[in-house]
Amino acid sequence: MRSLLTFLATACLTTVSFTGFAQTAKSPLAPYISVSDPVIALTHVGIIDGTGAAPLPDQTAVLDHGKIASIGPSASAKIPAGAKVLDLHGDTVYPGLVGMHEHLFYVEPGSAALRELVGGEMFQTGPRLYLAAGVTTARTTGSIEPYADLNIKRSIDRGLKPGPDFGVTGPYLDGPDPLIPQLHQLSGPADATRTVNYWADEGATSFKAYMFITPDELKAAIDAAHAHGLKITGHLCSVGFTQAADMGIDNLEHGIVVDTEFYSGKKPGLCPEDRAAGQEMAAKLDMTSAPVMAMIHDLVAHHVAVTSTLSVFEMSAPNRPPLAILLREKDSMMPQVWTSVLQTRALIAEHADKSIMPVLMKKEMQFEREFVAAGGLLMAGCDPTGYGAVLPGFGDQRNLELLVEAGFTPEQAIQIYTQNGAKYLGREDRIGTIAAGKQADLVVVTGDPAKDISAVEHVDIVFKKGVGYDPAKLIESTRGMVGIR
Ligand SMILES: [Zn+2]
Repeated sequence: MRSLLTFLATACLTTVSFTGFAQTAKSPLAPYISVSDPVIALTHVGIIDGTGAAPLPDQTAVLDHGKIASIGPSASAKIPAGAKVLDLHGDTVYPGLVGMHEHLFYVEPGSAALRELVGGEMFQTGPRLYLAAGVTTARTTGSIEPYADLNIKRSIDRGLKPGPDFGVTGPYLDGPDPLIPQLHQLSGPADATRTVNYWADEGATSFKAYMFITPDELKAAIDAAHAHGLKITGHLCSVGFTQAADMGIDNLEHGIVVDTEFYSGKKPGLCPEDRAAGQEMAAKLDMTSAPVMAMIHDLVAHHVAVTSTLSVFEMSAPNRPPLAILLREKDSMMPQVWTSVLQTRALIAEHADKSIMPVLMKKEMQFEREFVAAGGLLMAGCDPTGYGAVLPGFGDQRNLELLVEAGFTPEQAIQIYTQNGAKYLGREDRIGTIAAGKQADLVVVTGDPAKDISAVEHVDIVFKKGVGYDPAKLIESTRGMVGIR
């Protein structure tokens, strides 16, 4: 009986969705698109080009079939006949963001209290919220449902779903007793090689090592990824940054706050108890000390990039972010998620006097400045995990603000989020900066982020390959669904 009901329910759903498609006869993306003309002129707009350069005022950019055809001062711009003209006085355009620490799963409400991180796939909300915020290229950085992530990517690539251009990481490569009970636990270096080989063949284009991976497994995973011509990053704990760089890792997530190599109680190949390590770092570690500078220079010498994820740290600091930032996300959350976020936030505020997070955040910001000053490639992503206060896209916008709080100029913050990610991905010739010939991945915001970085919260249009999406419609379509799908 039960199987018959399931069959009927499935059959009904299939019929409904099939009819839905037949009736629209249009692209399933149509409800979210605000500008779809083949040739578009964005006139009288300020441009921040993603190279770190100062903004250029009153520019005109012509987009032609998905590419930037020309760009220059509005006074001398030639607008092709038949172009759709958008007068963008008072607005600013910057390159589509390249999110380098994104996920397509969300931590189920209550997970934090259970001290077990359980991820539910964000089939619908994740891709839409990233795109709405201006993220046009995204690397997932650890997958819980790699097949689901790959299917989402393929649907977007085929024009069936709105979302950024995703590069999918394989499943987290973790050692024994993972924090996420859904993860595979590697049984040794041979298993690391086997797992990387399998997922590279399935379509993963990068890998992520996780906290409890053993040094031997990490080395095997790095070598296997490189044998496929793919890169590998890590949120490490059992292995320190210097050791990982020497093994050949390409990228390190989160920054110095997760680097255990300076902890006095560190045992080789083992992840120390995190609170003790964090407390010692907060109390003692000087970001300009010789050992830290040596680690930074080692990363730079080995061309190891670092991904900044300030927004996910911020939510664990008392009374941060400002409530107004969280309220932007509220409507997208299912009610239990919102309640759970507020409860955890209140608990953190209650213990504010004991919190090491404000100090650790400052240290992390200082580390990121030192790393960039030493010539390191810093990228960024929102990491929508933790206790759930950071949502896809919204968290990326918040990160731009936090990079400015860290001491970068707004132009540098945008460069970290655009050109630097494109460089790492080897796609700098097509994405990450605004120039003639590049892919028309552009974010149009009201105001000037160079004067006030919070302008990045006010996105009017997101162009992906020359197609303009309406962020309000994308966000509206996620109403109440973060935490469900
Ligand atoms: Zn992450």
